[in-house]
Amino acid sequence: MNNKHHFYFHHIEVKDSLVHGKGIFASIDIPEEETILLIEGDVIDGNECERREEEENNVYIFWNGDDCYIDTNNSEKIKYVNHDCDPNCYVDEWDTSTLQLVALRDIKAGEELTIDYGYEEIYENCNCHTCQAKKAV
Ligand SMILES: [Zn+2]
Repeated sequence: MNNKHHFYFHHIEVKDSLVHGKGIFASIDIPEEETILLIEGDVIDGNECERREEEENNVYIFWNGDDCYIDTNNSEKIKYVNHDCDPNCYVDEWDTSTLQLVALRDIKAGEELTIDYGYEEIYENCNCHTCQAKKAV
């Protein structure tokens, strides 16, 4: 873990989520376009990614472009980020072995941080905050 780049790491809490299992929550306001934390872990290729997903049921792997993936299974916080179809965060490049979580809009203290996982299966039977709100109407 690179200690020079904490950003909002210490202001992110892991708590039970209404969406799915645990989630990560902001404990202070975070302005739009701020880097919230860095996404670090084992850097692996596509074959190893597939193996870990299938054999270890690992769902904590982020794609980092081309044949490069980051396994965040040993991370304290980012592994718990949940999906939302209308998320308040997005994932962007940082360097070849690191991604960053960025605020897509102003986030208020207490809000759950979410990203769009962006793969087809997630949109079927989606139970995210946004889809729950739509069903409630
Ligand atoms: Zn949804």
